[in-house]
Amino acid sequence: MIRHEDVERLVSIVGSQHPITSFYLNAHLGKHSLEEQRLTAKNLLRERRLELEQRTDIDKHWKKTALADLERLDDMLKAELAGPHSYRGLAVFISSGEGLEQTYRLPQPVRNALIVDRDPYVRPLTTILDEYHRICTVLVDREAAELYEIYMGEILEHDRVFDEVPGKVRVAGWYGLEERRIERHVEDHVHRHYRHVADTVFRLFKLLGFDWLVLGAHHEIVSEFEPFLHPYLRERLIGHFHAEPRKTPLKVVLDKTLAIEQATERQEEVKLVDDLLERAGSGGLGVVGLDDTIKALLNGQVHTLVVQEEWTVPGVVCRNCGWLGREGEVCPVCGSKTDQVEDLVDEMVELAVYYGGRVEHVFADSKLKDHGHIGALLRFRV
Ligand SMILES: [Zn+2]
Repeated sequence: MIRHEDVERLVSIVGSQHPITSFYLNAHLGKHSLEEQRLTAKNLLRERRLELEQRTDIDKHWKKTALADLERLDDMLKAELAGPHSYRGLAVFISSGEGLEQTYRLPQPVRNALIVDRDPYVRPLTTILDEYHRICTVLVDREAAELYEIYMGEILEHDRVFDEVPGKVRVAGWYGLEERRIERHVEDHVHRHYRHVADTVFRLFKLLGFDWLVLGAHHEIVSEFEPFLHPYLRERLIGHFHAEPRKTPLKVVLDKTLAIEQATERQEEVKLVDDLLERAGSGGLGVVGLDDTIKALLNGQVHTLVVQEEWTVPGVVCRNCGWLGREGEVCPVCGSKTDQVEDLVDEMVELAVYYGGRVEHVFADSKLKDHGHIGALLRFRV
């Protein structure tokens, strides 16, 4: 699983005294064969090595370390690209000086790049990761709890809480007073347990910074437990399902959470498309349709590219300056010969990410399908 602390560590490295190598590869096998991907990696490595070797303005030791890191990257990529994979983007960060070695397999294509610098080049990575929600799912009953982290379809167990509740002893007290006292005693225990669980969830929240919270419990437990949650967490609660700690299998926890996540995402997508159509219709900060979206993208206006899932259209791109369009054999910006691409949307996604914009894929049946299948929220108008 992509860990929050790894990303934090990566982002925190600024102006290191050691070389930092950042590598990105468009690894979408539907668009680029394994052979092409290996070749792209090989060429980038060769170019960068040559550049480093020829530079005379850098420290000898720094240069040696950077070249050794490139060797390491070469080995890692050979292993990584040894066989087919299901991810669409690959990002690798290496710095032997910083003790850094991280690989990210991403669900979206990224633009090819190999950069050796004093900072890691993190923008494409963080842009993609920002789109995915980190969820904490808590299974809870009156004496136990289990805390899970769910991210990009993977599940990880974090904490277990157990607070034994004293058994309900049958005591024939005078006028039932003793029984009521014991009941109260049990209630105290349960409340202390809920508080304990809520505190543990809050601690995990501070550690992982999850976006959403899901509860797995009996219905009556959900309403009992919810008031104990910190207001920050109550805000993030998106749903609950029927479950029990120590009983519900991991697979069920994952599937139920993903179903709740999907339903929530759909609601957010409906809102996003409504917002986009309203802005585009009123001449505000939004455009819909391929041509206007391409224009906005090339102008660097795109804040959020909104794409209908699985929708594709052929087009052309200029590998020299990055221009793209529906057609044209020659790039209108730099005059280079353009390349035909089967899926222009894929290229547009890459370009949006490259400019630090967000990308939202909305479900195929949204209103966007009647408005050109693609659009963008804009940072500014021109
Ligand atoms: Zn060009």
